[in-house]
Amino acid sequence: MILECRDICKSYFEGKMEFPILHHISFSMEEGEYVAVMGPSGSGKSTLMNLIGCLDRPTSGEMILDGTNVADCSDNELADLRLSKIGFVFQTFELLSYQTALQNVELPLTYAGVSRSERRKRAAEALEKVGLADRMDHRPSQLSGGQKQRVAIARALINHPKLLLADEPTGALDSASGEQVMKIFRELNEGGTTILMITHDAHIAQNARRMVMIRDGVLTPAGEEADE
Ligand code: ADP
Ligand code: MG
Repeated sequence: MILECRDICKSYFEGKMEFPILHHISFSMEEGEYVAVMGPSGSGKSTLMNLIGCLDRPTSGEMILDGTNVADCSDNELADLRLSKIGFVFQTFELLSYQTALQNVELPLTYAGVSRSERRKRAAEALEKVGLADRMDHRPSQLSGGQKQRVAIARALINHPKLLLADEPTGALDSASGEQVMKIFRELNEGGTTILMITHDAHIAQNARRMVMIRDGVLTPAGEEADE
């Protein structure tokens, strides 16, 4: 089991007022799975992704990521866990605008203390893998949306994460670029990468092998396997 969420609740607080967002979520993933979490805007998808990605902590309940109970982790340990286990892809790419594609992809390796030459080599390979060998020295403003997202995917994969988390990865893309990103995800999953993808788009969710629904912070399995 790569991920196990047990009875997770998440509230936001404003003063003494509690705003419950996620309600008793139990959910798990095996290594190699490709799961889509589908739900409308405001249903709690990003809140859930931030918890699973160790960017935030649950209000109650347990989360076990690749054998580590996050409740037992200090903030520093949580940051290490995130760096070593999780790759993130966001709707808005979140690239550094003043850095080249290559430098953006290298960044997680910098945090991991990898040497400069090794960083270059691995980042270049990752960009080749997503079809951007000829765009390495471009800055984000010189790239299309789909190319930016492919840079972000290369960056997410550079540390060989156990789990790739994607929050609306096609949400800011035209349908052709979105389809390209979905093709990359399918190929990654066929190569063994475990993927959790969040989307409000039923058509995009069909790319995954399993689907769960979230509505008003309540998660329900969609039951049947998605079409291949
Ligand atoms: P989704 O990604 O499905 O659109 P979110 O997880 O972003 O939904 O938000 C779920 C609910 O939580 C929304 O009602 C949103 O307003 C609320 N919310 C999200 N982040 C915060 C926050 N930091 N403080 C208070 N409320 C928040
Ligand atoms: Mg969201």
